[in-house]
Amino acid sequence: MKLIDPIIQFHNEIQAIRREIHAHPELCFEEHDTAELVAKKLTEWGIPVVRGLGVTGVVGILKNGNSQRAIGLRADMDALPILELNTFAHASKNKGKMHACGHDGHTAMLLGAAHYLSQNKNFDGTIYLIFQPAEEGGGGAKRMMDEGLFEKFPMEAVFGMHNWPGIPVGHFGVTPGPMMASSNEFEVVVSGKGAHAAQPHKGIDPIMVAVQIAQSWQTIITRNKSPIDAAALSITQIHAGSTTNVIPDDATLVGTVRTFDLKVLDLIENRMRAIAEHTAAAFDAKVSFNFKRNYPPLINHAKETAFAVEVLQGIVGAEHVDAQVEPTMGAEDFAFMLQGKPGCYVFIGNGEGDHRSAGHGLGPCNLHNPSYDFNDDLLPIGATYWVRLAESFLKN
Ligand SMILES: [Zn+2]
Ligand SMILES: [Zn+2]
Repeated sequence: MKLIDPIIQFHNEIQAIRREIHAHPELCFEEHDTAELVAKKLTEWGIPVVRGLGVTGVVGILKNGNSQRAIGLRADMDALPILELNTFAHASKNKGKMHACGHDGHTAMLLGAAHYLSQNKNFDGTIYLIFQPAEEGGGGAKRMMDEGLFEKFPMEAVFGMHNWPGIPVGHFGVTPGPMMASSNEFEVVVSGKGAHAAQPHKGIDPIMVAVQIAQSWQTIITRNKSPIDAAALSITQIHAGSTTNVIPDDATLVGTVRTFDLKVLDLIENRMRAIAEHTAAAFDAKVSFNFKRNYPPLINHAKETAFAVEVLQGIVGAEHVDAQVEPTMGAEDFAFMLQGKPGCYVFIGNGEGDHRSAGHGLGPCNLHNPSYDFNDDLLPIGATYWVRLAESFLKN
C-alpha cells in the first residue's frame, strides 16, 4: 500500500479524535459537540469553516492557486439510537446512542486528510470538506443541499465513502451505476366493520382483506416488474385486533420497498395502490394508502467512478479494488448529492471484526450492530484516498 507518510505519523492524533467522537455519539441533527470538534480542528489547522448548513453541518474550505476548479469530499457525523454492548474505554458515554455505522471513522478520515492538505497544498483549486448531519434517516445531505450547499460552494463533483464490514482491510469496492437502493416505506390501513367473531356475516373482516392484499403484492415482484430489475417488497408489521372473539374494525400493513431504479419504484407503488384499493373494494372494505419515498437509489457516475478506481488502484493496487462490487439493498442519503452533482461513492473494507480491542460485545462487527466498532487501521488508508483523489482532481 502506498500510504502518505505524514498521515501515518499523524495516526495517533486521528485515532484519538475518532475515539473521542465514538465515546460521544449524537443523533440526527443533534451533532452539536461533534460539529464543534470538527470546526475547532479545521480552524486550528488554518482551514476556514462555514457552520450551520443543515442545522449542524460543517463545510471546510481549502483553496490553493488560481484555478476555478473545485471538488467536494463528504463525511457523515451522526450516530444511531442503539445501546452499545462494547465496554472498552472509548465505548459510548451517551447511553442509548452509538456510533454503530462508523460515521465517527468517516469524520476522522476526512479530518486526517484535511490536516495533511492544510500543510501540503499540492493542488490548484478548491477542496470543500463536507461534514454532514443526519445520514441515518434524517436526510441531512438533502437538507444541506436545500440550504444551498452546491450554490454556496460550487463544486464540479462530489465524492463519498463508507466503511464496509466483510471487505478486507486495504481493499475497496465500488461500481458504476446503482450501488445502493432507494428506500421507501408504506402504511396501509384497511377499514372494515367490526363484529362478534361468532357473527362474521354482520361485519366486514379487515383481516381477511389485509391478508389478500399482502399475498397479492408479492405478485408485483414476480409478475409485474421485469425479472431483470431488482426489488424487495417486505411487509414488516401487521396489526389488527386485540382479543379472540371480536372481529376488529381495521387492519394495518407496514413495510418497506427497495429498488435501484425510480421507474421500477413508480411501477411498484402504483401496483400496490391499485391492488390495495381494488381488493378492498371487492370485499366492501375501504383502504387508506400511504407511501413515503425516503432516499433515492445511489447511482455512481461512470466518469467519476473510473477516476476514483484509478486513484484507488494507485494506492492499494488493482488486485485490491473490486470495481464491480455487488450492489446492496441498503440505502444512503449521499444518493441525493449524486442527483445534484456527478460523483462516486466507495466502500472501504472494515475487515471481519478482529480489530476490536478487549471488551467488545459478543455480537458480529456488522453495521448497526451493538457490538460494532470502526477499524482504526482504515484511518490512514481512507485519509490517503481523500488526499490523492483531491490532488489528482485538481492537478496543477
Ligand atoms: Zn447506518
Ligand atoms: Zn452509515
